[in-house]
This record gives sequence, structure tokens and C-alpha cells, in this order.
Amino acid sequence: MLDLESFKKLLASPKKIVITTHHKPDADALGSSLGMANYLKKKDHDVRVITPSDYPSFLYWMKGNDEVLNYEEEGLQTEARELMQQADMIICLDFSCLSRISELGGLVKKSSAVKVNIDHHMDPEDFADFRYWSTEAAATCELVYDLIVKMGDKDLIDSDIADCLYSGIMTDTGGFKHPNTTKNVHMVTAELIDLGADNSKISRLIYDTNSVNRLKFIGFALTRRLVIHTDLHTAYFWICKKDLKKYDSQTGDTEGLVNYALSLDGIKIAAMFTERKDGVKISFRSTEDVAVNKFAAKYFNGGGHKNAAGGKSEDPLKETIARFEKLIKENQQRLLNQLELVTETK
Ligand code: 5GP
Ligand code: MN
Repeated sequence: MLDLESFKKLLASPKKIVITTHHKPDADALGSSLGMANYLKKKDHDVRVITPSDYPSFLYWMKGNDEVLNYEEEGLQTEARELMQQADMIICLDFSCLSRISELGGLVKKSSAVKVNIDHHMDPEDFADFRYWSTEAAATCELVYDLIVKMGDKDLIDSDIADCLYSGIMTDTGGFKHPNTTKNVHMVTAELIDLGADNSKISRLIYDTNSVNRLKFIGFALTRRLVIHTDLHTAYFWICKKDLKKYDSQTGDTEGLVNYALSLDGIKIAAMFTERKDGVKISFRSTEDVAVNKFAAKYFNGGGHKNAAGGKSEDPLKETIARFEKLIKENQQRLLNQLELVTETK
């Protein structure tokens, strides 16, 4: 765990700091990164945020967004590599396996900078010199808030930082609905509102800025791409490349879709299969009594939280879905009773 005194000492003089987060950052990833960046800048550090990919435009309003360096963007790799090489400290937020940040993971590993990992995912990889990690936390933003307070710097949290941190807590708790919405979550959000977070504005900016294409896409997916197996307590969406093209899908447009499948009465396991250029990306969601992260880790090269996990498959979409259905059938009772999952027979 984090040795607060050594960490404080390290940050006592101005440092070159790079902050990075996971592929396709969500509000918790970007909110924790920019919240942390804005805070460290106030403490006179030279800070840059590097993301491994682009992220949804509904997050562009966060303070510091204009200075984020997207590693996937044409011509920016050299600058990102230089920043990584020159950094005194690299802070990794909202992920704990370097493989989740693609090529950037190699750069982090190679760098001689002090490495810090702040995260709330299970089974962290042991790559950091300082780790502030808890699976009890609903969001990395909750941990960043906690850390700033522990550093004795609560007074440095202004309304911009509070907005960033509030965003991640709001989305990682599914709008304060998931079982991870603890008393501490409510306490921290109350403090953030007190420090200037505009909760109603943030909710509108993140949830209510749909494009017409996105709404039409959701309507299409609900009517044509939802498969329900009542007997298996399972429902899933499948989205192919053609669908994404037809609705001019933008990063973030499929976010939250899987929750419609889970919202069906009697459904305990929900999934969404999205065909991408590099394989099939899978999102899993479950009700409190089912652990989809174990399912994702065992069969789909993924992981995550108990009720919200993800994975991938290199098989074609149809075969991936057929395999999923077979595995769900074989494991039905085991999933519902939280027993060890079967070894797959091919
Ligand atoms: P989403 O379905 O929103 O992409 O991901 C839900 C959660 O599952 C994320 O918060 C993350 O913890 C986890 N997750 C998603 N994809 C992967 C993956 O490929 N590997 C692992 N280990 N976790 C993932
Ligand atoms: Mn998170």
C-alpha cells in the first residue's frame, strides 16, 4: 500500500509527472486523470495526461481536456514517448494491468520514473512503487479524492477538480444505483458538491447530450439486436461493424446499452458483443448474486468487477456468441450459486 509520508516527500519539490489511464477512457478514467492533473498542477508540478486512445466527446468539457495527449493520434507518439522517458513520476489510474493500456504499457515498464497506481479493480499487477488500491472503492475518483484529503490538500479541490471527480463516481455507480454505492460514496459526493461540483450539470453533460444517430441506434439495437433467453436468465445485444457504420457510431455511443438487457425482469446476466476491427469486444453485466468477472476471466480473456466486467474474443462474432451461449448453458447453476466454473470442452 501507499506509504503516505514517502509519497508526500517525493512531491515536496516540483516534478515532471505523466498521468495515464486505460484504453477508451470512461468518465472515471478521465475524471480521475484530470482531477489528479489539475490538483498536481496546483502544487507546481509539470503534469501531462496521456491516454492510450480517444474517448467519448461527452467528456470533453472537463478542465484540462485540451491538453490531453491521445497516443493513437497520428504524429503524437514521439511526444508521448519523450514525456514518458523524461518523467520523474508516472501515475496510472483506473487500471492495474499494464496490458490494458496497449503499447503504452511497455513504455511505462521501461521508464525509470517512480510508478504510482491508483485503482479499484481486482487482481492488480505488481508494477508500481506506490499503490493506492481498494476494491471497496466504487470509483478511482473516490480514491483520488481520498488521497488528496489524506495529503492534507482538501482546500486545493476547486469546482473544476470536484466536477472531474464527481463524474467518475456518478458513472461507475451507474448513477448511484449499483451495489457499490456505499455510504462513503454518498459522503464523498456530498463533500464534492460542497466543494463546487455541479451535480445536475454533470449529469446533463454526460447522460443527456445524445446525437440523433445514437438514439436511433439504441432503438435499432433494442428492436433488432437483443436476444433474450428467459430460461437462462440471460439477455444480450450483438452489434456488427455494419450497424456501427450505418449509425455513424462514435466512441461512447454503445456505452450503457448493455444495461437495457440487464433491466429486464428475471434477467441476471447481460452481455453485449461488439464487432471491432481487432476482434469482438464483450461487455458483461450481472445482478448482485452473479460474478461475471470470473466468467470473463475464465473464458474471454478479460476481467473486471463482480457485476461489471469485460473481455474479448478473436473468433468471428457468430462463433463468439455461439460459444457464449454454450458456456452460459453449461454454467447456469454454477453462476447462479457462485460455484467454480466448468473447464471448457472444445
Ligand atoms: P465495459 O463493459 O464498460 O467496457 O467494462 C466494464 C468493466 O469491465 C470495466 O470497468 C473494467 O473493469 C472491466 N473490463 C472491461 N474490459 C476488460 C478487459 O478486456 N480486461 C479486463 N481485465 N477488464 C475489463
Ligand atoms: Mn473505474
